[in-house]
Amino acid sequence: MRNVWLNRGGFCSMFTGIRQNVEQEDANQQQFLDNLISQLLDEAQTNAKGPPPASERFIQSLPRVSVDSLSSDESCIICKENFHESQSAVTKMPCHHFFDRECLLPWLQLHNTCPMCRYTVETEEQVKEEEQEATRNWMYG
Ligand SMILES: [Zn+2]
Ligand SMILES: [Zn+2]
Repeated sequence: MRNVWLNRGGFCSMFTGIRQNVEQEDANQQQFLDNLISQLLDEAQTNAKGPPPASERFIQSLPRVSVDSLSSDESCIICKENFHESQSAVTKMPCHHFFDRECLLPWLQLHNTCPMCRYTVETEEQVKEEEQEATRNWMYG
């Protein structure tokens, strides 16, 4: 009789010990998840602040500008090279700012803004919406 009680007590305290360990692990897991979620939220918010990429259509439509039509002191703000000296292909944003095509393209693939004045151009998202709108008009219009 005495032994049974002892054994039961031993078993109980062992069980309580396991339970505490499990709860401790749960707390760590929870902490880990909380950190992960807040990191993801921070990243999402950081991304939301930055402008989206310009649309492929806009990039394709960039005009080719003759260097001769530019004044001799006109230079690319991205690489600071004078257009007349670099002799590279020059293009113009709708806000009338000039850039080397090879400098502007990588920028537009990341941001839908003019690097000089932050003038915004169309995004891939806007093109998609336009296409959806066109499809709707075609179907119901
Ligand atoms: Zn440049
Ligand atoms: Zn501009």
